[in-house]
Amino acid sequence: MKILMASSEAHPYAKTGGLADMVSALSLALAKEGHEVRIVIPRYYDIDRGVLSLLEGAMGVPMGGGEEWCAVYTAPLPGSGKKHPVRVYFIDHEQFFGREGIYGNPWDPDFLDNPRRFAFFSRSVFQLCRKTGWFPDILHSHDWPAAMVNVYLKFWERPLGGEFAAASSVLTIHNLGYQGIYGKDNYGYAGLGWDVFYNAGFEDWDKMNLLKAGLYSADKLNTVSPHYAEETKTQAQGFHLDGVLRYRSADYSGILNGIDTTVWNPAKDPYIPQKYNAAAVREGKARAKEALQREFGLPQDADTPLIGMVTRLTSQKGVGELFGPAHGSAWSICQDMKLQLVLLGSGESWCEHEVQGLSSRLPNFKCRIGYQEDLSHLVEAGSDFFLMPSLYEPCGLNQMYSQAYGALPIVRNTGGLADTVENYNQETGEGTGFMFDELNPQAIYNTVGWAVWAWYNRREQIEVMRQRGMKKDFSWEKSAKKYVALYESCRAGRP
Ligand code: ADP
Repeated sequence: MKILMASSEAHPYAKTGGLADMVSALSLALAKEGHEVRIVIPRYYDIDRGVLSLLEGAMGVPMGGGEEWCAVYTAPLPGSGKKHPVRVYFIDHEQFFGREGIYGNPWDPDFLDNPRRFAFFSRSVFQLCRKTGWFPDILHSHDWPAAMVNVYLKFWERPLGGEFAAASSVLTIHNLGYQGIYGKDNYGYAGLGWDVFYNAGFEDWDKMNLLKAGLYSADKLNTVSPHYAEETKTQAQGFHLDGVLRYRSADYSGILNGIDTTVWNPAKDPYIPQKYNAAAVREGKARAKEALQREFGLPQDADTPLIGMVTRLTSQKGVGELFGPAHGSAWSICQDMKLQLVLLGSGESWCEHEVQGLSSRLPNFKCRIGYQEDLSHLVEAGSDFFLMPSLYEPCGLNQMYSQAYGALPIVRNTGGLADTVENYNQETGEGTGFMFDELNPQAIYNTVGWAVWAWYNRREQIEVMRQRGMKKDFSWEKSAKKYVALYESCRAGRP
């Protein structure tokens, strides 16, 4: 099959979170299965044009106000090689993407022209195919920034009966909390009629909702774990689109993300002091723990359990319950328990402030504010436990990375966390992590306490759990097959 991934992020070119990892890793896995895969993303300001090749000639994209002009660059996806090449295309539009930030920046977190930027990007996907003479069987778009691809296919290209008449569309929801809701004064720029505004389901309380239109227009929908697919159909976790998802439930499923085992593999990881695997874990893990303690300025102590966190500092990740001023449980956890806690993260400024304050007052809590890929590997390798108290988690990658690296996840029983972590049973020693149901400071405190108790009192069970986690298969191969089945199901019945 010919598959075109349309996304606002793709690792290693543009990344703010798990979306970028997923798009690239799934593409590589599909290419290995013999499919022809291409990716298209915007050329953001900090993607160096010097390492890309320019396609000859400018590209015109018909939008509401007339033709919009851009350049197109291309480069191979790192890791794809000659045998299973995956090509990335970059839409280069100075006015829309020639600025710092993907969706915004610290001063302007949600660019005012985002609906125009991503409507343009979604429309450019079709022009790219025309320019390169390559037409996909499947247009696979990701999240709200690329959701309009589905609308353009259904309401513009397919009715024309041209090159896209037989193409099918899949929209993957990576996080229902982000929908791209903007004033409908932006709609004219999209170049679609007002009938489409209502028929495609853009309308959302007198505003324009990009994701919602995608959810109505795509042939098939999915999200990144089976548990989250069910949760999003409920009022509690549906972010007011649960009705749409229930309406489309026959076409809506959950497929668990895999992890890129060429990047996230302690046996091959260049960012850790000594490589290790399940068969020989002790020394490599001990060296990584020492290095991590050194990096964060913590006492070198092998016996104290080290808990790691790598996260965006936003309410979705449970940071309010953990670090919230006055009520968060991190202070008591670090005061009451003999453990060390390290955090690598960036995000909401109240939280950045708070964790820096905590780390100056607590000898056993240290943080690093920023986004550091190499250090995130060391945190996984050097930690004994990995804390992820998410309010909701569509899939989550870090709990899988941590199991692969022999750090036992401490997680809330939700979404992809529920699908990938098995709760510890202290009677039998079964499980790969520690789980709690309700998100509140006390539950986090209790569950961290439970893990620390097991560390000091049931160390042999901890070691067995570590082994069990490291041996789990989190590779993309399994999930890629499920995507192929999904693609096939939406092609059934097409010419
Ligand atoms: P989300 O996509 O909701 O942020 P995931 O767990 O699915 O959560 O993916 C997060 C990804 O981003 C992981 O690869 C994680 O290691 C990475 N990440 C998050 N914050 C940082 C950071 N501060 N430094 C390095 N990597 C980070």
